[in-house]
Amino acid sequence: MPSHSAADPADDHAAEPIAPGVRRVRIPMPPGTGLPFSNAYLIEDADGRVHVIDPGSATPEAHETLKAALGGSPVASIVLTHLHADHSGGAAQLAAETGASVLVHERERAALGLIAAGLPAPDLEAWGVPAERRPELLGAAAVPTGPAAQLDAVITGVLTDGDVLALPGRRLRVVGTPGHTGGHLCLHDEEAGLLITGDHVLPTINSGLGLGGPTESNPIADYLESLDRVARLDRGGLRALPGHEDPFTGLRERCSALAAHHLRRADEVAAHPGGTVWEVARTLTWTGGWDGLAGFTLLSALQQTAQHREFVSRRA
Ligand SMILES: [Zn+2]
Repeated sequence: MPSHSAADPADDHAAEPIAPGVRRVRIPMPPGTGLPFSNAYLIEDADGRVHVIDPGSATPEAHETLKAALGGSPVASIVLTHLHADHSGGAAQLAAETGASVLVHERERAALGLIAAGLPAPDLEAWGVPAERRPELLGAAAVPTGPAAQLDAVITGVLTDGDVLALPGRRLRVVGTPGHTGGHLCLHDEEAGLLITGDHVLPTINSGLGLGGPTESNPIADYLESLDRVARLDRGGLRALPGHEDPFTGLRERCSALAAHHLRRADEVAAHPGGTVWEVARTLTWTGGWDGLAGFTLLSALQQTAQHREFVSRRA
């Protein structure tokens, strides 16, 4: 075991107490993702068994960090806020080693099935994408089906809105929060004043929307409703435990700021009713600028523009 000197880099990934029975582990992200860590939350029940929320990526480094933080404690369950690999990737190995159950929202499980079967390519021509940019976007849109199939295979049960995980000594209520993905969930511990928010609400980052496969409803409309849903849980002092960055308070205000951001973006899109998705996207403001977008970030920008156009047309 590494010593606990301040200079020890392993300390960066040590389990940090958040509240009685709740610890946060910063799980290293794979290189090139632009984010240093995702957060796993370890919740110990009254019987001494641990429930892991979002084990993190499927890399050896992530797995070792989590195992070191668990320190041999029995793992009873793994709950995933959503299907993205930086939160869910480590679930299969952890479940195999511990026999823990693996739970996701029922809508997320349905999405995993679609992704595992192979999603259709976006209609880039309809979006007005110039021919020379299409190969790059088709490459980015080709989501590998293997990880989704692997995750789907280890899921032992599904959750739905309002379900309560009645752990010995603690109750966690499932709050369905579609938007970032169609089956994203948050977990509310009302007694402890905690809300595990996954990627639904992060303290400074604006999460992308509609990033979990196709949904019947519009991800922007879903997201705005989901922001309302969690903002209403904050009657003052609720601590948000996000999937990236650090725990924070002021959830209600953060939700308002995120809603305002998306409504501004919708107004920007509404100001260009005639153009193609490509033409409209070029006129919008993007972090790092339009010219900095390529591959996956460009695809994501176009998807979000298309979602906003649909949202605006439904709103009209
Ligand atoms: Zn995510």
